[in-house]
Amino acid sequence: MPTDFLASTTVPPEFMEDMALARKYACQGPRYTSYPTAPQFRQDFPMQSYRKWQGTDGDHKREPLSLYLHVPFCNDICYYCACNKIVTREKGVAQRYLQRLQTEILMQSELVGDQRPITQMHWGGGTPTYLDHAQITELMHLLASHFKLLDKGYREYSIEIDPRTVDLSTIALLKGVGFNRISLGIQDFDPLVQKAVNRIQSYADVAHLVDSVRSHDFRSLSFDLIYGLPHQDRLTMEETLRKVIALRPDRIACYNYAHLPERFLSQRAIDRLTLPEPDEKLLLHELISRTLQDAGYELIGMDHYVLPDDELAIAQSEGRLQRNFQGYSLRMADDLLGLGVSAISQIGDYYLQNERELDNYYAMIDAGELPVTRGCMVTDEDKLRRHVIMSLISDLKLDLGDVNRQFGIDFSRKFARELDAIQPMVGDGFLTISNEQITIHKRGRPFLRNICMPFDAYLGAHQGDEPAPKFSATV
Ligand code: SF4
Repeated sequence: MPTDFLASTTVPPEFMEDMALARKYACQGPRYTSYPTAPQFRQDFPMQSYRKWQGTDGDHKREPLSLYLHVPFCNDICYYCACNKIVTREKGVAQRYLQRLQTEILMQSELVGDQRPITQMHWGGGTPTYLDHAQITELMHLLASHFKLLDKGYREYSIEIDPRTVDLSTIALLKGVGFNRISLGIQDFDPLVQKAVNRIQSYADVAHLVDSVRSHDFRSLSFDLIYGLPHQDRLTMEETLRKVIALRPDRIACYNYAHLPERFLSQRAIDRLTLPEPDEKLLLHELISRTLQDAGYELIGMDHYVLPDDELAIAQSEGRLQRNFQGYSLRMADDLLGLGVSAISQIGDYYLQNERELDNYYAMIDAGELPVTRGCMVTDEDKLRRHVIMSLISDLKLDLGDVNRQFGIDFSRKFARELDAIQPMVGDGFLTISNEQITIHKRGRPFLRNICMPFDAYLGAHQGDEPAPKFSATV
């Protein structure tokens, strides 16, 4: 079906069916970047048993490790933002943060091990490029002094860039200190949309940065887009997509804006009346999906589009895709160590989250304490359900024989209730269930979160020590 119709004001009948399904399954649910999901983390998790396990020798002291590093500061507020960030232009904040990071890096490398090859690293935020060139260099030097960074072989070292905070010399510096992947926060190119969310960045500036990223031979360039923002409609989105496709990033992550002003104060600056209506939002999603696929991109998981020769496309076909706190990525290490305020680690049988308030994070570091304040130990039941959920959301299939062998269960008996719950989705063409496998079909891709939710034992049985979470809309 050509995508042209989507730019018109009338919607053809064949698409009405998809919209009816989206309405039928509209609900709120987790994004499944972990299982158990972060709201289930508790303050009284078994930190002592984690330390004891880290104190023993074993493969976990030598196996590859991913690093995530959180830089919480931003120069300006983007009204839609739901990240853990601090908007400030106060001089010296970054340097004070780096001092604490240095201590945390030292403590963590002693605990987790400094000989594990760092196959993946990601700097996120906030705005990692809030740091100036000297601070970026100093931080990378710190990491290289306490972890085994790699400079050859396959590795993914990526950084999120706010195009408003960098110039061409920053791109050269990032390449020089070892990054090989760049992720640019684009969100939308339309001037009215940009004004309404307080994030103004011109197409020309972004195009210059893209040229520079290409000329420095980065392995890949990603764009982040958001749909559901104020004043977006099919015409503005068509134009944004035309510009995006012209710049040909290797990967495009496309996120659904969740308007939760009661939870995220800055979203109160967005006039609800300027947001696209739910049906229009569904059309935007459809427009993005069809336009990018028509332009040669492949859909990965539920919200990433990649060029066919990108490692993520190959990984999905080979079952090596994983979902973690950064979305979808290659599975190159089982453990992820998060550094910095609010960062989350997934290590062995544990999830651990650092203190989320900056002052408290500083106080803990200054007192010589590891700044971990919440977490959970993953039970055998969690591991089974995590395997089911992550296979469905990443591999788009679940090998039932493999689950039975790996976990010593009879899947159809163990998950009889869950299988009943997803039966209507079989009827709607989202998936098929055979004796051997659950297979997600193209039609089910936008509903992956809905498909996973029946397998989540914590939904409706919240166990975290904070109020039950409000999740974003699944579709
Ligand atoms: S979207 Fe990025 S740059 Fe904007 S406020 Fe949030 S973290 Fe900061």
